[in-house]
Amino acid sequence: MKVPLLDLAAQAKSVEADVKKAVLAVLDSQRYVLGPEVEALEGEIAAYCGAKYGVAVRNGSDALVMSLMALGIGPGDEVIVPTFTFFATAGSVARVGAKPVMVDVLPDTFNIDPDATAAAVTARTKAIIPVHLYGQCADMDRLMAIASRHGLAVIEDAAQAIGAKRHDRGVASYGTLATLSFYPTKNLSAVGEGGMILTNDGELAARLRCFRNHGQTGTYEHAWIGGNFRLDGIQGAALRVKLRKLPDWNEGRRKNAERYDAGLKDTDVVTPVAEACSYHVYHQYTIRSPRRDALREHLKAAEIDTGVYYPLPLHLQPCFAYLGYQQGAMPVAERLSTEVLSLPIYPEMSREQQDHVIETIRSFSRAS
Ligand SMILES: *Cc1c(COP(=O)(O)O)cnc(C)c1O
Repeated sequence: MKVPLLDLAAQAKSVEADVKKAVLAVLDSQRYVLGPEVEALEGEIAAYCGAKYGVAVRNGSDALVMSLMALGIGPGDEVIVPTFTFFATAGSVARVGAKPVMVDVLPDTFNIDPDATAAAVTARTKAIIPVHLYGQCADMDRLMAIASRHGLAVIEDAAQAIGAKRHDRGVASYGTLATLSFYPTKNLSAVGEGGMILTNDGELAARLRCFRNHGQTGTYEHAWIGGNFRLDGIQGAALRVKLRKLPDWNEGRRKNAERYDAGLKDTDVVTPVAEACSYHVYHQYTIRSPRRDALREHLKAAEIDTGVYYPLPLHLQPCFAYLGYQQGAMPVAERLSTEVLSLPIYPEMSREQQDHVIETIRSFSRAS
């Protein structure tokens, strides 16, 4: 039985008629860039996430770059990021000319280590970018305390965690800013590229809107050097349709996670830890196995697709060699990169498909 890592066709089918109608309406209106659909989307997503303002942008990577620009972060500044994340978290810091300072993650939640974060603060540190990896909120209680002690901005990289909560509070409402991605593989996806920045600070929201449009403050008058980070109207329209389904989709992912937790008990793989205070939205369901590559082959032979996020921590990436990190500098992330394996968890997955994944892992476990 084939089990893809993600089945975009199944998702598209479940919203097809409404998405087509909404997209065609934008084409008929010629509101191709920003416009009323994007504006409505900003309000709806901010409300859903528990933040006051939303500023829609082209993608999640530019959401990070624009956040840093709007906070005035650039050359000479340091920004603390986890080393175990998608490239854009650190790439965005380098793109604005600042220095990414990488720290290790926690072995149970895979999220940034607050002690390592506190230890990495210097006089040049301007911000922390915690990532809510795989859909679970980082330890924002401790991270916000560190940030306030040192007067640092916090940009939550919530690209994988829309709808997640901690202590019943939405991720993307803790930090100075939070960024989202609507890339097609994310829990809420556009019909192309998309992203958003959320904040509770009205002044900052207004500045972000300027930065999105080349820092323009009056007619061809520019107070800042921003860029063109605007979102397309059809993305706004399609996202509004899909947003109505997101709570159910996230619940579907959580149910699948529960079935995996039960089905993979007493095997030699380590299932992911969800903190008691956390509403995890399982962008990925990531297990650990010291025999990860063999297990992955075994699953592939049974027509089950899996993912490895991420096979090389950022401190060891060739493009960051200039930062001078050595192998062994971040032992948790380095070990995770050899052990993590993400299983199919998409909400449209059938019971039979999931049982097939569970049984295939159990047979691998028995054979050892
Ligand atoms: C996907 C992702 C991004 C980047 O988003 P894009 O929309 O692909 O540019 C940034 N950070 C993390 C953690 C992501 O998963």
